[in-house]
Amino acid sequence: MNDRKAIDLASKCVRCGFCMDACPTYRLTGIETLSPRGRIRLMSSVMNGETDMTSEIIAGIDTCLGCRACEPACPSGVQYGRIVEHFRNRIEESGVRPKLQHDAKHGILAAMREPHLFSLSLRASRTLSGALAPIMGSSSHGHADMPVPIAQALSGGSSQTLMPETPDSVSVGSLPSFSPAIGERRYSVCILQGCVMRVLYHQTNLATVRVLQHAGCDVHCPPELGCCGALDFHAGNHSSGVEHAKAVLAALRGHEYDAFVINSAGCGSTIKEYGTLLEDDPIWAAEAAGLSAKTLDVSEFIERIGLPGVSLRFPAVVTYHDACHLAHGQGVTDQPRRLLSSIEGLELVPLHESDMCCGSAGTYNLTQPDMARRLLDRKVANIIATGADIVAMGNPGCMAWIARGLKEQGSAIRVMHVVEILAQAISA
Ligand code: SF4
Ligand code: SF4
Repeated sequence: MNDRKAIDLASKCVRCGFCMDACPTYRLTGIETLSPRGRIRLMSSVMNGETDMTSEIIAGIDTCLGCRACEPACPSGVQYGRIVEHFRNRIEESGVRPKLQHDAKHGILAAMREPHLFSLSLRASRTLSGALAPIMGSSSHGHADMPVPIAQALSGGSSQTLMPETPDSVSVGSLPSFSPAIGERRYSVCILQGCVMRVLYHQTNLATVRVLQHAGCDVHCPPELGCCGALDFHAGNHSSGVEHAKAVLAALRGHEYDAFVINSAGCGSTIKEYGTLLEDDPIWAAEAAGLSAKTLDVSEFIERIGLPGVSLRFPAVVTYHDACHLAHGQGVTDQPRRLLSSIEGLELVPLHESDMCCGSAGTYNLTQPDMARRLLDRKVANIIATGADIVAMGNPGCMAWIARGLKEQGSAIRVMHVVEILAQAISA
């Protein structure tokens, strides 16, 4: 996308303010420039050439979670997510961001995209953090997995960075390239292992395969499928995101599947947008649109095809947190709730502000630790108030971040992906 297109999208904003109450950063601060309407005005003024790209403007955009809660609230259909992703790319190319902060952020993203490097980085940073702690000190909240100087470079100086909860032992999981349907074969599907999912939540990937098999699916997982580019697109690295999207399309070229099933909300939201992101590409536009049309979140797909002949039982009180890129990015809110409610013995209880961002938002918890902390505290308090045994969700970033918040509060509430509950319900 170019400035002209982004300006056109932004010009749909009639400044009515209906989006304001949906925006977490505006609700927390009441500051216009930290609202969707205020940010659209800031971005438009730079793109129209009325204002220079200043550090104040960058700060206003950096505090945006990219949660897209403003989109469904907007009666004019402003595609805020597309505008802000374009503008973030502009920020990264402007050279205004301090070099140390820029390099730290992009270094973290590069590590997260490569599962082996991500796993190695997590192990190394824990060791380094432990070794440096007596010299550098640690924040009041603790830097569980990251040395203080790196955390400060990322956040522009804050010493309050809280790291997401990660397993004690991190390694790179690998799914079989083919897992046959159990019982009658009804569909042939492809799944994405994901970068973060493979390292932190391989058990969720295994559960995804198991549930799909029981739903009558042959499950393909081509080993050459890598990062979908979501981390890059959300952070404003457009060209790198496009490269990764094309690599995914190339890996799937020549294969025919009934659906491309995704268990990470951030990845699913991006792949569903490949058609738009690559609409001007003369080689890949049609394939990108085709893949987007076949992409479904795992809860969406299972709810659609059902689990005929499978009895589900899972006695527990469960509440459900809406991941932003599932609820706002994909409009998937009812399907996971209907799936959970269909399980015998499971009581689904409502969560207050279930669709309000938890503050994880990709690398937001590292770059904006203070705002992320306030959102996490609010989310955790709401979860604890439900009295549930388990909080279910559909995105790895939320899982790791909310798990850290619950652990910090000494809560025994478990964090589970919806598909893990389904997999265990089949076994029970
Ligand atoms: S609701 Fe839509 S049109 Fe109204 S201020 Fe927000 S973005 Fe602009
Ligand atoms: S994406 Fe989220 S944080 Fe950003 S302006 Fe919209 S609602 Fe606010």
